[in-house]
Amino acid sequence: MFESDRVTCEDFVRELPALLDREVAADARDQLLAHLDTCARCLRKHRFEAAILTSLKARLRAVPMPDGVEERVLAVLALTDRGWSGAT
Ligand SMILES: [Zn+2]
Repeated sequence: MFESDRVTCEDFVRELPALLDREVAADARDQLLAHLDTCARCLRKHRFEAAILTSLKARLRAVPMPDGVEERVLAVLALTDRGWSGAT
């Protein structure tokens, strides 16, 4: 998937979001991770972005959903399923 067998910094930066989302194929992932062994700059970037992502996910989990929101959303979805005719 890369132009040469060697992953460049440009390749790495471009693929980093997909790598963090685990959306890259296994072989491409191996190539990208191998680049980190040879490139301190990309290693720092990878660590930094991964840390942001981890703390972001932790924060999202920490936000409680207000009471009743789930039921209301499900009710609206049920209405949408039936279509809006007669819903007035
Ligand atoms: Zn690099």
